[in-house]
Amino acid sequence: MIPDEVQQQVQQSLGISIESVRSVSGGSINEAARIKLKDGQNRFLKWNQMAGAEMFSKEERGLKLLKRADSELRIPEVFATGETETGIGFLVQEFIEQGQPKQSSAPKFGEALAELHRHHGKQFGLDHDNYIGRLSQSNTWHEKWIGFFIEERIQPQLKMAVNSKKLGENTVAHFESLYELLPEIFPEEPPSLLHGDLWSGNYLYDENGRATVYDPAVYYGHREIELAFTHLFGGFSNKFYRAYESAYPLQPGFTKRKDIYNLYPLLVHTNLFGGSYGRQVKSIVKQF
Ligand code: ADP
Repeated sequence: MIPDEVQQQVQQSLGISIESVRSVSGGSINEAARIKLKDGQNRFLKWNQMAGAEMFSKEERGLKLLKRADSELRIPEVFATGETETGIGFLVQEFIEQGQPKQSSAPKFGEALAELHRHHGKQFGLDHDNYIGRLSQSNTWHEKWIGFFIEERIQPQLKMAVNSKKLGENTVAHFESLYELLPEIFPEEPPSLLHGDLWSGNYLYDENGRATVYDPAVYYGHREIELAFTHLFGGFSNKFYRAYESAYPLQPGFTKRKDIYNLYPLLVHTNLFGGSYGRQVKSIVKQF
């Protein structure tokens, strides 16, 4: 199931042959497999026929930034990224065995995320652009969160959705009214190191019950956008949120702000998948 040229290139990059392959489902963008190497080690391999090495090298940089933060979150080690002569990009990581969560797993996960968010940058953004799903994500530095949110998060996705006729000009007008109100809505916070794409499909508990996160879209941002996204599709327990809050309390009124932060992932989903996501965007933004 792995294209031959990917298998060959991976073997060459790792300097060892692949003995067996088992497909892994659950990804929304790439194809994935567990590969067993000749020395008995398992590795996690992702590849994409439509994307070259660039996208995966950005993922590697994100994983390394998260690892360097040295929080209690487990971050898979990266062993190789590259591209075949035919342009198929790939990424080889440590394979994380999924285990049963313990009583303490979710609270520790909440604390560990708070620990990550206590890594503060001087500005909002990152020293390089990266990807959200397969769409590019601009991380130009801004001093103010609101400017970053409007110019680097909402505007590029909104333009894309309007150009592809997934959203209309009237929605743009609602966004413009919302922008005016943002200074009263978003509380000031320092820029936090974020995973950037933290939904339930991007974490698992390992064999020791430790939360492992992967597939990031890292930048320094307002930590509430990360928490808002965890609520969008569910899959995070009350124990997780309680532990986060006691480790790093949120400012009052977060629940009311959640939908506004989630306009970003909903616009991204509108552009990636269409369907009902555009309607969700419209129903949030038309209140403004
Ligand atoms: P995509 O980029 O296509 O969204 P993901 O990186 O989310 O793909 O990976 C797809 C699935 O593979 C995840 O939902 C998870 O179940 C599993 N997975 C991801 N990373 C690892 C890993 N390092 N070890 C084991 N399984 C993993």
